Amino acid sequence: MDRCKSCTGIVSCPVCGSPISSFSHVGVRGNETSFNIPVIDYKLKLGSNPSGIRHYAQPCDHRVITQAASPDLVYNGGPLWGNGYSWINVYWGKFYTTEAGKAWVARVDRATSDIETNPSYSGGLRQYNVGMGKLLESITIPAEPPSSMSNSQLKEQILSWINSNEIRDVSNKGAYNLFLPPGMTVTLSSETSCAFFCDYHDTVDAEKGPFYTVEPYPCSSGCNNCTSSEFDTLTMGLSEEMVELKTDMDPGTGWVIGNEELCDYCDAHFVCNRISTGEYVNAWYDRAKDACWSSR
Ligand SMILES: [Zn+2]
Ligand SMILES: [Zn+2]
Repeated sequence: MDRCKSCTGIVSCPVCGSPISSFSHVGVRGNETSFNIPVIDYKLKLGSNPSGIRHYAQPCDHRVITQAASPDLVYNGGPLWGNGYSWINVYWGKFYTTEAGKAWVARVDRATSDIETNPSYSGGLRQYNVGMGKLLESITIPAEPPSSMSNSQLKEQILSWINSNEIRDVSNKGAYNLFLPPGMTVTLSSETSCAFFCDYHDTVDAEKGPFYTVEPYPCSSGCNNCTSSEFDTLTMGLSEEMVELKTDMDPGTGWVIGNEELCDYCDAHFVCNRISTGEYVNAWYDRAKDACWSSR
């Protein structure tokens, strides 16, 4: 999607003044640090870095804050996750070949499967015509990545892995969770993971995919309101990105509430929740109950 309702009228970048050909939309879970960004007609609370669909002006790639066209829950007609769709977890870096790394992979795979197959947490998304899928065998890529990469570079990397058959192509019926090793950061425009956001989901080529979430190794602060466990930090972020990818595969074209996706709305009214298998998860907006999902 080149333009959504909230960015349709913005013709020049408020940061650099250059013309804007389109916007890149990325579904991002914010963290709790504060920073200054240009604001267009939008009352941003100082010191907040909220979750939502972030706008990056193209081609300059500056981040722009836009006012939501409507605060109502809407479906914009884009692709949604169907029954039987598949997740592939991709673990990148030497760390995941160590004993500690392999143990982490096993726990994260288990949690991914538990989240996707939970009848209440995942099954409840049927009210949005979103199905339940499964986890395929995960992939470890032992080559060590650079210490930092941009989201654009990650898109090229995912295509390269698919084209060389290192990872199976699930573009039409699934998505990837990409887990980065300890110490590696990813950038969105000039913003670095953990300093400006926890994790995100995106697509390589709009409604065609491939679709993916990016999970940096758990941030040490700003991304876990409930416990001090790295693993809980990971499952909170992973659950949110999985739900938001499923309900809004090409960010902004699926189910949204203004510039927020279904869990972003609940991040602003945060409650600690665990699914029946024990993993901490972030809640999504349940329109049938007009409330955020709860295990109780
Ligand atoms: Zn937009
Ligand atoms: Zn710019």
